[in-house]
Amino acid sequence: MSIWDSVKPKKKSITATAVVLSKGQNELTLTWSDGTTTAVATRRLRQYCPCAGCVEEWSGKRTFEVETIPQDMKVIEVNSVGNYALSFTFGDLHNTGIFRWEYLKDLSTAAPA
Ligand SMILES: [Zn+2]
Repeated sequence: MSIWDSVKPKKKSITATAVVLSKGQNELTLTWSDGTTTAVATRRLRQYCPCAGCVEEWSGKRTFEVETIPQDMKVIEVNSVGNYALSFTFGDLHNTGIFRWEYLKDLSTAAPA
């Protein structure tokens, strides 16, 4: 091991430092450890739920058409999973998806300033 291995910047994994569900329970705002803030519609979270019931494990195919998720799909409850992910209880009571930070960051987009 050379000196360069120890001075190389470590790949930091992203974590959320704040998670806020909007009053209408239809949007989630996330503040990240890199200082950025992003937002995502709760409907989108339900559409892209990564659980085994929503994605076929062997094909990676979604088991439903994302368009069939109602426009007003809310999140009723937000729970943290360890310190690496969140889980949600959606308006349809679906709650088996584990959303890792990286995945949440991918799904969300920069919040309007
Ligand atoms: Zn699911």
